[in-house]
Amino acid sequence: MAKLLITGGAGFIGSHTCLVLLEAGHSLVVLDNFDNSSPESLRRVQELAGPAAADALKVIKGDVRSSSDLERALAGGCDAVVHFAGLKAVGESVAKPLLYWDVNVSGSRELLAAMRACGCRTIVFSSSATLYGLPEVVPICETAPIKPINPYGQTKAAVEQMLADIATSEAGWRIACLRYFNPVGAHPSGRLGEDPNGIPNNLFPFVSQVAVGRRSRLSVFGGDWPTPDGSGVRDYIHVMDLAEGHRAAVDVLLAEDPQLLTLNLGSGQGHSVLEVVAAFEAASGQAVPYEVVARRPGDAASSVADPSLAAQRLRWRTQRGLSEMCRDGWAWQSANPQGYAS
Ligand code: NAD
Ligand code: UDP
Repeated sequence: MAKLLITGGAGFIGSHTCLVLLEAGHSLVVLDNFDNSSPESLRRVQELAGPAAADALKVIKGDVRSSSDLERALAGGCDAVVHFAGLKAVGESVAKPLLYWDVNVSGSRELLAAMRACGCRTIVFSSSATLYGLPEVVPICETAPIKPINPYGQTKAAVEQMLADIATSEAGWRIACLRYFNPVGAHPSGRLGEDPNGIPNNLFPFVSQVAVGRRSRLSVFGGDWPTPDGSGVRDYIHVMDLAEGHRAAVDVLLAEDPQLLTLNLGSGQGHSVLEVVAAFEAASGQAVPYEVVARRPGDAASSVADPSLAAQRLRWRTQRGLSEMCRDGWAWQSANPQGYAS
């Protein structure tokens, strides 16, 4: 079993992944500055993992941009890093590009330097389908052009390039860039889930908050897209499937020869906004009122993964569909209407 550093492990995807990695028997150090999360998520990870994992999760409050925090986090030795820490709000990235380049790109640079210093050369990086921009061909393969259309996407593309450069520069690097499509849902216990600050930018948490009565209605951004019902189509992936994809990526990197893997993590299934609304209403038994408004600038009509390379390389594919995403998302939202502050 491996010793892993998980940056950003208290966040939405990180917390679910920590649980899956603990259940697989790995020991973890989480480095998180709690900029967009709460230590409560990790307390619940510990609770769900049970007493057998009591000593296997260490939490350090610190910043990936700080070499001394990284040194502390890597002090006990490290077989591999899973690098979630970063900022992810598209609109904020347009307003504050320097902040995004600092946290996402300089943070990754600092992390790679600290890894080299301690001899760890294995990393799984949280990339994003956002770097495909407005895709010309759907489903999207990993060979599609990289054309990000906002600073957030630019920073993900830049870190992927940095990782490719370091893999070329010296032997021994084992790297997986995982391009997530739209992660949603929650742990089926309802104890872990997504807890966005303020008004959610993303569809799924917004719909959940309408269902639980925190918001009055959803705005559907565009009803005239070239899609079957006119609303936007995305590839939603259950966060537990995504967490299991990370476990598979860690296993493959540690077992195989050094390599650079770049993989889409998605289901290969597209669902429209109106389908998500209907599925959430069915799972929750609550009405989700909505109105169709203008398109959101920068949106694509459709973004769906071709997930076949991940299936081949990781021997992993998604197991959970839209109804499970809504069922588990509702279990979380209804039990924690104010998120971890409930
Ligand atoms: P999140 O905000 O819930 O988690 C990110 C975590 O990183 C948080 O716990 C935050 O406190 C921490 N963090 C932020 N800046 C930090 C810093 N400087 N030092 C240490 N910790 C820091 O986000 P998430 O949805 O779990 O996303 C995780 C990763 O996956 C991010 O890199 C994100 O860009 C990427 N990603 C997310 C999505 C998505 O839709 N959720 C899609 C594609 C890619
Ligand atoms: N969307 C919407 N209303 C919202 C948020 C999102 O209609 O309040 C739509 C959006 O236009 C897109 C889909 O839902 O078609 C998914 O958007 P999200 O922001 O969750 O993900 P992304 O656009 O990053 O794929």
